Amino acid sequence: MALGEFDLIRQFFCRDSGPDGRGVVLGIGDDCALLQVPEGKQLAVSLDTLVADVHFPATAAPGLIAERALRVNLSDLAAMGAEPLWFTLGLTLPASDTNWLRDFSQGLFRVADEYKIKLVGGDTTRGPLAFSIQVHGAVTPGQALLRSGAKPGDQVFVTGPVGDGAAALAIIQQQLVDVDSAAYNYLLNRYYRPEPQLKAGRLLAGIASAALDISDGLMADLGHICTRSGVGAEIVAERLPLSDAVSRYVDPQQALNWALSGGDDYQLCFTVPEAKVGLVEALARQHRLPLTAIGRIVDGTGVRCLWQGRPLMVAQTGYQHF
Ligand code: ADP
Ligand code: MG
Repeated sequence: MALGEFDLIRQFFCRDSGPDGRGVVLGIGDDCALLQVPEGKQLAVSLDTLVADVHFPATAAPGLIAERALRVNLSDLAAMGAEPLWFTLGLTLPASDTNWLRDFSQGLFRVADEYKIKLVGGDTTRGPLAFSIQVHGAVTPGQALLRSGAKPGDQVFVTGPVGDGAAALAIIQQQLVDVDSAAYNYLLNRYYRPEPQLKAGRLLAGIASAALDISDGLMADLGHICTRSGVGAEIVAERLPLSDAVSRYVDPQQALNWALSGGDDYQLCFTVPEAKVGLVEALARQHRLPLTAIGRIVDGTGVRCLWQGRPLMVAQTGYQHF
């Protein structure tokens, strides 16, 4: 059944339940939301747009695409060392399909509740299926994790396995077959429900010299840190952490390629000055964060990967829209 715009917003996006909106003076329903930034904090803001048949198939399960989209946005807050506060949603729909909307909003609020981020407004229009999510987070001035602070001698870390996103995509595209159900479920879950590394980001704020989340592939993303910091990086292929699923079912050459160049992992890649490596390792033990040191920042430009001590040629450098 078709719904009017205001009924649609009321039915699917206004809720009394869910996380208490910290600092929400006025939520959905007026011309603007009114939001109080926590005392002494800066606002971190990030926006992502997803277009049907570019970023997801138009027929994909709406709950899954909503869930994934919000998780990916939360990953940007994690990469900044920010605490999630609020988000807004811009939704363009070809029709007001109540089944689609129910599934979409349930997926969205599942994640919003898990990470305690509150929907405070948005916009709803008719047109080809697409949506934008803008997240807002709080960060202490001077402690945000930028891409620009890496220095030669810093160690390079990742927060968890790399290559899972590419392996999952290969399963979805039926290029990787014959994996057992545990590996299948693990990889698809990693793809549709990437875990924003908020805890790691929060702990590293004010300690790591640079950080970002790996969305386009480790080589390409670490390359962004290098460019912004005016440095180069060397990573050691043998140290790259791989999941059991990838180690077991993907041949080592392919696994290495996916770990270096595959996208959609949403782990953090960050750099730490030598003097603070002990502190970071202690925090990792204390909070059970599986951090792995994978290389070093060096003088120069660009990212090199060493394999058995020799430079490895890596073909692909991440996904670009233009
Ligand atoms: P305006 O015409 O002033 O832009 P709208 O009619 O677009 O206002 O929106 C009315 C209220 O509903 C606003 O508070 C807006 O933030 C909220 N809203 C609209 N669409 C959404 C949505 N998809 N999710 C959450 N809030 C929404
Ligand atoms: Mg509007």
